[in-house]
Amino acid sequence: MQVTYWLENAWLGTHAEPGIALTVADDRIAEVRTGVERPPAGAAVLRGLTLPGLANAHSHAFHRALRGTAQIGSEAGGQAPAGGRLSAPTSFWSWRDVMYGVAQALDPDSYFTLARAVYAEMALAGITCVGEFHYLHHQGDGTPYGNPNAMGEALIAAAGEAGIRITLLDAAYLHGGFTRTSYRPLEGPQLRFGDGTADRWYDRWSQLKGEGHAKIGAAVHSVRAFSDRDGYRVFAERTAEVPTHVHLSEQTAENDACLALHGRTPTRLLADSGFWQRNTTAVHATHLTAGDTALLGAAGSTVCMCPTTERDLADGIGPAPQLRRAGCPMSLGSDSHAVIDLFEEARAVELNERLRARTRGHWTAAQLLRAATEDGHASLGWPDAGKLEAGALADFTTIALDSVRTAGPPARLAGETAVFAATAADVRHTVVGGRQIVRDGQHQSVQDVPAALADAIGALRD
Ligand SMILES: [Zn+2]
Repeated sequence: MQVTYWLENAWLGTHAEPGIALTVADDRIAEVRTGVERPPAGAAVLRGLTLPGLANAHSHAFHRALRGTAQIGSEAGGQAPAGGRLSAPTSFWSWRDVMYGVAQALDPDSYFTLARAVYAEMALAGITCVGEFHYLHHQGDGTPYGNPNAMGEALIAAAGEAGIRITLLDAAYLHGGFTRTSYRPLEGPQLRFGDGTADRWYDRWSQLKGEGHAKIGAAVHSVRAFSDRDGYRVFAERTAEVPTHVHLSEQTAENDACLALHGRTPTRLLADSGFWQRNTTAVHATHLTAGDTALLGAAGSTVCMCPTTERDLADGIGPAPQLRRAGCPMSLGSDSHAVIDLFEEARAVELNERLRARTRGHWTAAQLLRAATEDGHASLGWPDAGKLEAGALADFTTIALDSVRTAGPPARLAGETAVFAATAADVRHTVVGGRQIVRDGQHQSVQDVPAALADAIGALRD
């Protein structure tokens, strides 16, 4: 199957260019021709700015059910999705208790239904690939389902139905946190996260299979949930060929306890076990020492920033420019899905830094778009996606340049317009593997995405 798309404007990695003809053969870009002023006969016309597909490198699909319910004052309006009264979460830790309530309500069927709607929302936002950091493995009391990977497979199927690619980052989550003296066992809502031992996690993980739209990656939930005794080194060896992610230093409390228990920062603890490699991604990396930053940079590990979640949870602002200078590629994630908008994530990296430094110009639009596309895909194990060039996977998305947000700037500044003015609502078309999954703002397989979200989330509340 060969299709030609004519792009009114296209982002070619460093700049926007008008008049591009993109030939797609099967699921890949076969040819990119520049200087094509008019649509060739029979070409599908994409007006606006076409970008490589966006990679959402850090997602917990079920957190979408929390949107709007876990803000101060939310409790006045009713109940948490799980039925419990909200206790006005004022910190990451109290927010986490609300999140655990939602986690308890899910089974493979309801998680499939919710995730399908969430991934369809992502497609509408121009996201063509998601990194799903997955730890809801077992039944509520920790007993495995008949198929011990029923939950992970539900997520893979959901992404397939929504038309996007997925890297399932299946997380080892063995402890319920640590104190200054020891690790705590999993308890209550955490029981379903755990496999008991690292070997049992590996046995289950080994049974997961990738398919066309899906790859299998791995994760350590955090240094709170995995210990030296569980074997970081063995874990890293077993997962050396796949993308491996870990939540890192999102909270100062994690650093404090790690320093007290191990005498080292979380980054150093992991470095001493050979955990940081090129296939590794540190998620958040908010509270780092200069030494931590140097360790991550020396390893060439990726750092995934999730600014809309980090601000929603009052985490802090990670040292993104310092990490870039140290040698870390950056990816972006919507994490808790307070919003799903990679343009907002991208500009927040620069705008947060402006507020902190009270100077401008830390990140260019090109650098931020690279994080949202090419480097995001690479961190999820799709190095041949996220770029508009011959041989790459035919994944791309088109934003309007004639909306109230984007109208006005010259087309040559379309990249800056995308990063600093566009929102997910400006996405008109999304193509994955050469197939148009969003056309004129309409998802092609999930007919009514808002209704699908409302039904799936409402069912958890009932
Ligand atoms: Zn996360």
